[in-house]
Amino acid sequence: MNIHGLNFCVIGGGIGGLAAALALQVRGAKVTVLEQASELTEVGAGLQISANGMAVLRALGVAKGKPAFAQKSFGTVLRDYRKGRVISRVPSPAAGLTYYYHRADLLDLLHKAALRAGVELRLESRVTEVLKHPGEAEIVLESGERLRAECAIAADGGRSVIRPILNGLETPAFTHQVAWRATIPWRHSDQTPRAALTMGPRRHVVTYPLRDQNQMNIVAVEERSDWHEEGWRQEGNPDDLRARFADFGGEVGTILAQVEQVNIWALFLRPVAEKWQNGRIVLLGDAAHPTLPFMAQGACLALEDAWCLARAFELESGIVKALAAYESARKPRARKVVAAAGSNARNFHLSGPMRLAAQAALMALGPKLAQRYEWIYSYDPTV
Ligand SMILES: Cc1cc2nc3c(=O)[nH]c(=O)nc-3n(C[C@H](O)[C@H](O)[C@H](O)COP(=O)(O)OP(=O)(O)OC[C@H]3O[C@@H](n4cnc5c(N)ncnc54)[C@H](O)[C@@H]3O)c2cc1C
Repeated sequence: MNIHGLNFCVIGGGIGGLAAALALQVRGAKVTVLEQASELTEVGAGLQISANGMAVLRALGVAKGKPAFAQKSFGTVLRDYRKGRVISRVPSPAAGLTYYYHRADLLDLLHKAALRAGVELRLESRVTEVLKHPGEAEIVLESGERLRAECAIAADGGRSVIRPILNGLETPAFTHQVAWRATIPWRHSDQTPRAALTMGPRRHVVTYPLRDQNQMNIVAVEERSDWHEEGWRQEGNPDDLRARFADFGGEVGTILAQVEQVNIWALFLRPVAEKWQNGRIVLLGDAAHPTLPFMAQGACLALEDAWCLARAFELESGIVKALAAYESARKPRARKVVAAAGSNARNFHLSGPMRLAAQAALMALGPKLAQRYEWIYSYDPTV
């Protein structure tokens, strides 16, 4: 169908929302993004964007040639926690390179590209409800303002207010896992930029360099039941982080010693949504399929969604058909990737004999480990 001149309203100016807005605007739609925040900022943190996500960024024109602000990865080192002994080295996937972005940089690239294309971004615009009418959706803002659009795209994240409109109220399950994240200045630019996954009993730490290796990104996850705050912006105590990972030696010990500011949040699990659309309203990104961060695929999936949604409008003969086609195309893959991330949560935190057996298997598998997830990275939604 031709979407030229049709009004699309995207709820949420995160990575998924901005990518969808850009993909639709360049196809001729008139897109308005409604973002609740007063500015598009991000707490310091990194994102690994693997080949499947990079394919979308390239197709959107925000990662041409050597992608700006991105740090090329040379694979992942798996380490044991005590002294940082290397268990295995996992090379970059054969499907293509992974890049490490500072989240704020990627958001900024998408934001600027969307504005250049003509997308209207409205900040301080919190949406509370979306109503379906014949041929259009009505978007209700907290301010009382009401907007009408031919299609409303809910890219409002893991705690989406639109998802319950389609799926009813769901109670998220606490995973009994708590994540810490921080960035620190880093001055080891002579080293090959690699992610490191350091695994210990009931805990793991992921580190990788950002911004020309001038910063190090840290995500530390522990099994714990006494912290239930879900928001990403809650400040934690760096000394508490160090105490909880005090037996992690080697490079992780050195890195944690330098943390001055840290955020902490509890990881909750919501299933992949049963219903993604009802003809005029559609879910995208974490709103449709929140995932635990153990495959580093949430933003990549959101980018894939954005491209596939825009493509569905090209291929189908009407909005209702396009949204149904998008849901059918995306749901099986989202379910499979989300399940893979869930299994990793268990694999990373083994203790006792299970840990030693898993390490022996990892050593034996070595470079073949990368092949295990090739089905994720080799998918290119843009071809
Ligand atoms: C520790 C951690 C590490 C991660 N690492 C990776 C990684 O390496 N690679 C990867 O691919 N993914 C990673 N992810 C996942 C990734 O961050 C998310 O999957 C991704 O940000 C989802 O994008 P989104 O646009 O769907 O939602 P979000 O990024 O959550 O954006 C939603 C936006 O909607 C706005 N909003 C919410 N409600 C409303 C409302 N009612 N009205 C208006 N606006 C609203 C919010 O303010 C926000 O701007 C990680 C996640 C975590 C927690």
